[in-house]
Amino acid sequence: MKILVAVKRVVDYAVKVRVRPDRTGVETANVKMSMNPFCEIAVEEALRLREAGAAAEVVAATVGPAQSADTLRTALAMGADRAVHVLHDQDPARPLLPLAVAKILRAVALQEKPDLVILGKQAIDDDCNQTGQMLAGLLQWPQGTFASKIILDTEKQKATVEREVDGGIESICLDLPAVITTDLRLNQPRYATLPNIMKAKSKVIKKIAPEDLGVDIRSDMEVIEVNEPPKRKAGVILSSVDELLDKLKNEARVL
Ligand code: AMP
Repeated sequence: MKILVAVKRVVDYAVKVRVRPDRTGVETANVKMSMNPFCEIAVEEALRLREAGAAAEVVAATVGPAQSADTLRTALAMGADRAVHVLHDQDPARPLLPLAVAKILRAVALQEKPDLVILGKQAIDDDCNQTGQMLAGLLQWPQGTFASKIILDTEKQKATVEREVDGGIESICLDLPAVITTDLRLNQPRYATLPNIMKAKSKVIKKIAPEDLGVDIRSDMEVIEVNEPPKRKAGVILSSVDELLDKLKNEARVL
C-alpha cells in the first residue's frame, strides 16, 4: 500500500505575521518558514501506518516555489521515502487557491496511484480548510476529514476514521483509495534526528511543472489589498457591578 502525503510550506506558527509595507500580502522575506503543523501530523500518521506494516511506501508532495523543497526535505528527514515537488512561483496578487492545489494533487495522485492520500485539515496561512475535500471530490474518492484516529484494513482495503464531532466521536468506514485530513489530536509528530536529516539529503525529489501535469491553475481571484486588523482599544477597570450595568446599558447599549 502506498500513501501520498500533501505538505505545505507556511510562515512558522510562532512568527508574528506582518503585512508588507505595500499591502500586497503577508511579509515572507527573512521570515522563518516551516511545514504546516497539520501536514506534520499527516506525515507522522503515514509513517506510523508504514511502521505498523499497513503501508509500504510514503511519498510526500508539495506545490510551491523552489524553497518548498526544504519542506519536502523535512518530510524526508522525518522518514518519508521520496517526494514530488510541483514547482509554482506564486504571485501575491494571484495566490494559488485550494481548487488549483487540489487539481494538481489529483494529477499527482493519478500518476502515483496511492491507496490513501493524507492532508492536513487546514493550512495555517490561508485557513481555507478546503483542499482535502476538493481533492476527494475531484478524484471521486471517499473522504474522512478531521481524523483523530485512523485504522487501515489492508486485506479488506478499508480505512476506519474517527472524527471528533460536537456530541462525541464519530466513526466512519471508507473504501480505499480514500482521502483523509488530519486533526490536531491524531498524533504528536516526531522530530527529525540528525542521522535522518543527513539520510534525507540523498532521497529523491521529483520536480514537475504544473503544465506537465496538464492542469490549468489560473486563479480567478485577485487580492486587491491586505491590511492589519484594527488595533484593540485598551480595557478599563470598573469599580462596581452597577457601573458595569450602567456602561452596558448606556454606552454599549447591549442591555
Ligand atoms: P487548505 O485547504 O489551504 O487549508 O489546506 C489544507 C491542506 O491541503 C494542507 O494541510 C496541505 O496538506 C494541503 N495543501 C494545501 N496547499 C498545499 C500546497 N501548496 N502544497 C501541498 N499541499 C497543500
